[in-house]
Amino acid sequence: MRAEFPDFRLGSVLATSFTATLTERQGEPVERIPTPRRLVDWLAVNGLAVDSCTAGQLERAQELREAIHAVATAAALGGTPPTSAVRVVNDCSMRGRAAAVLTPESTRQWRLSSPTCVEDALGVIAADAISIVAGERDGRLALCASPSCRAAFFDTSRSRTRRWCDMNTCGNRQKKARFHASHRKGPSSAG
Ligand SMILES: [Zn+2]
Repeated sequence: MRAEFPDFRLGSVLATSFTATLTERQGEPVERIPTPRRLVDWLAVNGLAVDSCTAGQLERAQELREAIHAVATAAALGGTPPTSAVRVVNDCSMRGRAAAVLTPESTRQWRLSSPTCVEDALGVIAADAISIVAGERDGRLALCASPSCRAAFFDTSRSRTRRWCDMNTCGNRQKKARFHASHRKGPSSAG
């Protein structure tokens, strides 16, 4: 059942894990939340469980995702984020009514106002995006070095020299390409 959908690419940063639900943006894009059910699954693994999701809510989520992508890309390049994208991010953030609660184990949990309120979950994601773009958190926004990807990611490495959004996919592919290039015997073996 699950195999018919592409896997999620999960990172440690909520907002950029969310933008990574669409990958290979500069190549052949892969939509990882193609149905409302898949968004429900994604939210569950990210601590924002909801019972259900409508087609309209999925559409709103994808709109937020692309807005975060636009804002984060502009920030990574040192430019001014597009006004329309900022508006979408802010709208989603303002509309969300999720509350942070402290568990007995001293971890943070998000409590949504209702189990069907996808908007609350989107609010948490939007606020997370705002915190990284605004420089509230320790790290640096950068663009993935893979030419078919160019995803904005949040580099929290000590040296701030991370090159790929994801080591296991983009990073690995690049390394393999380089390996093959250096082991190619001559131009005739290229095809
Ligand atoms: Zn990448």
